[in-house]
Amino acid sequence: MKLSELWKQDGYFLSFEVFPPKTDTAFDSVKTAVAKIAALEPSFVSVTYGAGGGTSQYTLDIAKSIQQLHNVPTLAHLTCVSSTKETVHERIEAMRAAGIENVMALRGDLTPELEQSDRSQWAYRYAVDLIHELKEYQDDFCIGGACYPEIHPESQNQKEDIQHLKEKVDAGCEFLTTQMFFDNNLLYNFLYKIREAGITVPVIPGIMPITNAKQLERALKLSGSFIPQRFKALVDTFGYHTQAMTQAGIAYATDQIIDLYANGIKNVHVYSMNKPEVAQKIKENISHILGVK
Ligand code: FAD
Repeated sequence: MKLSELWKQDGYFLSFEVFPPKTDTAFDSVKTAVAKIAALEPSFVSVTYGAGGGTSQYTLDIAKSIQQLHNVPTLAHLTCVSSTKETVHERIEAMRAAGIENVMALRGDLTPELEQSDRSQWAYRYAVDLIHELKEYQDDFCIGGACYPEIHPESQNQKEDIQHLKEKVDAGCEFLTTQMFFDNNLLYNFLYKIREAGITVPVIPGIMPITNAKQLERALKLSGSFIPQRFKALVDTFGYHTQAMTQAGIAYATDQIIDLYANGIKNVHVYSMNKPEVAQKIKENISHILGVK
């Protein structure tokens, strides 16, 4: 199912994100974890993509198994930054062969080597270039893109970041998923600004349940997200006690999700990180809310 159909439905929706294995040996354990997440019947499951493409086939294998075995729509991520046109065309063909209907079109993070290389030689510099490619080569995917309520780390200012976001939407992006954030007010401010800028597509807030201090450290390194004092206190107190932090992190994420639903958001995406027990607990915490039409 195309996700554009989902956005038309009434009610509240919850989706989960999983990541593919990095090696053959990890494939079965990832597949088992993903199967448990898919069995929770989320509105869709997104499957991330290893930048550089090393695990691209795993992304498709996992996405295909979710669709075929569990009948849950999937969103396959695809990055373009270090790819040639030929490679991207091959991946588009492979997605089509795997029955993928929804693609998250991303640039991918810049490695230190890429930062040093000659950008004029790149086939794709930004996610918008990949969106144009997807539209030209195979115009029947429902395409999503990433957005950053706290600004993409490379952007000079939010106005510029939002202008580039508008270019992605104008190129054919039908929905946007946000980077993680821990203060919902940042999302509400961002929504106000992008709507003012004429971006009207659905925005799916991405919520990351933090289950240990190290995970938060890694996540912050990538996203640079602001940590509210209330959340900092939880991590300072429980961050090195896995079970206690899992409980606290799930409670904090649940609180964020309920607040989002109460403020007009219909779809929330949870960065469930191949942890079925976390996904299950969050779904249980909002089970009655998800039943409200
Ligand atoms: P872009 O939209 O291209 O933006 C990157 C930067 O370039 C921004 O600062 C933007 O303002 C600027 N920019 C855009 N267009 C122009 C232009 N024409 N001229 C000048 N500047 C411009 N990474 C992975 O490797 N695999 C994944 O599966 C993955 N999934 C993700 C899912 C989500 C929801 C999010 C938020 C991120 C994900 N990432 C993933 C990380 C992502 O690849 C990085 O954040 C990357 O640095 C930017 O990707 P983008 O698609 O947002 O890039």
